[in-house]
Amino acid sequence: MQVSVIGAGLAGCEAAWQLARRGIAVTLYEMKPAKRTPAHHSDDFAELCCSNSLRSDQLENAVGLLKEELRRLGSLILACADETRVEAGGALAVDRHGFSRLVTERVRSHPNITVIESEVTSIPAEGTVIIASGPLTSDALSAAIAEKLGDGHTLNFYDAAAPLVTYESVDMSSAWFASRYDKGTADYINCPLTAEEYDAFWHALTTAEEAPVHGFEDKHVFEGCMPVEVMARRGHDTLCYGPLKPRGLKDPKTGHEPYAVVQLRRDNAEGSIYNLVGFQTHLRFPEQKRVFSMIPALANAEFVRYGVMHRNTYLNSPGLLDRYYRLIADDRISFAGQMTGVEGYVESAASGFLAGVETARRLLGQAPIDFPRETAIGALGLYVSDTTVANFQPMNVNFGIMPPLGCRIKGKRNKNAELSRRSLEIIDSLRESVLDGVKEESHEDHH
Ligand SMILES: Cc1cc2nc3c(=O)[nH]c(=O)nc-3n(C[C@H](O)[C@H](O)[C@H](O)COP(=O)(O)OP(=O)(O)OC[C@H]3O[C@@H](n4cnc5c(N)ncnc54)[C@H](O)[C@@H]3O)c2cc1C
Repeated sequence: MQVSVIGAGLAGCEAAWQLARRGIAVTLYEMKPAKRTPAHHSDDFAELCCSNSLRSDQLENAVGLLKEELRRLGSLILACADETRVEAGGALAVDRHGFSRLVTERVRSHPNITVIESEVTSIPAEGTVIIASGPLTSDALSAAIAEKLGDGHTLNFYDAAAPLVTYESVDMSSAWFASRYDKGTADYINCPLTAEEYDAFWHALTTAEEAPVHGFEDKHVFEGCMPVEVMARRGHDTLCYGPLKPRGLKDPKTGHEPYAVVQLRRDNAEGSIYNLVGFQTHLRFPEQKRVFSMIPALANAEFVRYGVMHRNTYLNSPGLLDRYYRLIADDRISFAGQMTGVEGYVESAASGFLAGVETARRLLGQAPIDFPRETAIGALGLYVSDTTVANFQPMNVNFGIMPPLGCRIKGKRNKNAELSRRSLEIIDSLRESVLDGVKEESHEDHH
């Protein structure tokens, strides 16, 4: 029994791991380092292209629930994220390089996984295959997928990454460490702007020169990763209700909330690099330096990476894929990750998890596991394969794709906590079957 997994990103590594730990031989193809997508820079697997945050780690939030489900079921990506976490309030943020290095080490050292560093340019004609080549799948493989699926089954949208600056170049006399409402530890660097400073910044941002991106129009931007300049153009104060929101951030110098606050989040374990939260952008690089340096604390900031914008490809999955991300028309092929229309790091890992577990089960002659819509893992697979969804769009996990509670509960947080409790009860009841056939009892199964 052998499976080819294409792409050693978040989804591909998770899928390969789940197969390998069930005794199945995996050939994992990764085109790095010989060839890179425009957003991938390191030689390691599971590279985080933009933010180093895997978002909320709280059970009142759907992505917090998804993480906990994956943790309980032995996900490689979650285990490595937990081991390399850096403090970020209620979020699970990781040391970007430490995280990828750990995933790479684990995958490369698994005896059932053979890594082949080579670009795959066509879909293997035989054998079981999981395609997890991501939103920036190389052109040759994209063309092969489009040909296999037929007209109109591959779609695109645009996504952008935020810049990184060095800590030592941030002027801390104009900034302070705190988390919003002083919750948890003081993990963010907060860079205040007065009304006048904000106004000048806004004018510069909305008139700055953008890098040309072929075919890009504002309406095709994924809402959750909208370039800061696109958001700014929606209105003078739109950013003050979004990434520059000052709520809960009192400047210790004045004792008041500033007019606007830019937050920087730690990007590595040493705390030597920070990213500009919500500042994904496709301005020209010199314009990024000019405009972002108008934020007083960043007047002399050293940019170690500028923001970039990319065209993302995804499948029009409803009708093409089943709830386990398997191609309905040719069930030896599954897809996993962002290209299936799930959106986000954790969601990509979750689809890799389900595709890996179910492919292994099928090869081992075991019945599929019914992850119901009440679970975040199940809800994502059911969303992606739901033929009643009109105008299919990539989607972050959210409680809206899960069935409501049968009873009334006061307060959104309480209701969400109850939805999570309901799901985790199901996950715990499925855990034994999911882990049935797992060969090695490794550390990530323990809680
Ligand atoms: C610029 C950008 C910024 C993003 N920022 C965020 C963010 O901040 N937060 C968030 O949650 N999500 C973000 N995403 C969305 C998404 O979560 C990530 O893209 C995530 O990495 C998707 O995981 P994946 O496993 O599907 O693909 P990837 O992690 O991209 O992995 C795919 C792998 O396949 C390899 N590959 C591609 N083609 C081939 C081929 N033909 N042969 C062999 N190997 C191949 C690639 O080199 C890569 O290693 C961003 C996406 C982009 C493009």
